[in-house]
Amino acid sequence: MEQLIQQLKSQQNLPDEALQILIAHEGDDAPLFAAADEVRKERYGIDVFLRGLIEFTNICKNDCYYCGIRRSNAQAERYRLTPEEILSSCENGYQMGFRTFVLQGGEDPYYTDDAVCSLVEQIKAKYPDCAVTLSIGEKPRSSYQAYFDAGADRYLLRHETASNAHYRKLHPPELRLANRKRCLYDLKDIGFQVGAGFMVGSPGQTTRELIADLRFLQELKPDMIGIGPFIPHHQTPFAHEKQGTLELTLRMLSILRLMFPYALLPATTALGTISPIGRELGLKAGANVMMPNLTPIRAKKHYDLYDNKICMDEEAAKCHVCLEGRVRTSGYRVVSDRGDVRR
Ligand code: SAH
Repeated sequence: MEQLIQQLKSQQNLPDEALQILIAHEGDDAPLFAAADEVRKERYGIDVFLRGLIEFTNICKNDCYYCGIRRSNAQAERYRLTPEEILSSCENGYQMGFRTFVLQGGEDPYYTDDAVCSLVEQIKAKYPDCAVTLSIGEKPRSSYQAYFDAGADRYLLRHETASNAHYRKLHPPELRLANRKRCLYDLKDIGFQVGAGFMVGSPGQTTRELIADLRFLQELKPDMIGIGPFIPHHQTPFAHEKQGTLELTLRMLSILRLMFPYALLPATTALGTISPIGRELGLKAGANVMMPNLTPIRAKKHYDLYDNKICMDEEAAKCHVCLEGRVRTSGYRVVSDRGDVRR
């Protein structure tokens, strides 16, 4: 085990069999976490970058089997934020020191390319020192180009799983892994800082699928890698599936840190949902980003991708204070910075 960790740390490309041992390891993961933390500190010190997350619509034309805001969930209470609400969420975040805003949503056709571009332009005009990240799903290349030309800096699009057969188990037939990958390569080619990623412990996922994810990431070399445990949502076809575990998610975070020393790795809300100290443990396992929620309360309780999501009734300012404390007590510090990738 120790030898494998050292090999990963020295940037050796491990064969599948070795990755398998690291991923499936049962026992003390402290040495793995410590190695990941060391690599993270070499590159990023103890800095933690914050991204102000604005969940601006929960209306979605897609029907992903795992997701609580899938179009077939007739019980979901749907909302859209107005441009004014989005801008005032940014203002709120700016005051708290955030220098990145993430606009995330379902694939909502109401937000045309022009509407998205106009939002990006307004945010960039008002906060030229901030990065704008979009996370609004699969689009034609021309749309991505338009967002980029409007000033968007980054784009998050988790690949969800790099195995075709597994992708089929998680999505309806009209969604294709090949298109998701095409999107990621287009985004990169256009010049975005790109984020990929996957859920840990999604139904049908084994170590083999996780290795495929790592191999795909080696090929794509994204700037950000977002992972978090799969958590069932009671109004989806996966209502009765098992949730991903804390242990495996933390191990995957550390393996990612060792394989991709430069990567921006969030300690996600999903990780904080399955354990009260999930995000703190995530930081100690190699994560260096947190994504506090800036969505107004009236809306954010309806952005329920999975059950028991935390911080659903908290004011953004309260969340911010709480997160800063969590970061500090874990031995790191929140910085007011765009937090660009350090390759
Ligand atoms: N529509 C955008 C944003 C999706 S929401 C897009 O397609 O990229 C962001 C992420 O939440 C998804 O990529 C997915 O990985 C994660 N997610 C969705 N449902 C989840 C669940 N039940 N448990 C854990 N994570 C989930």
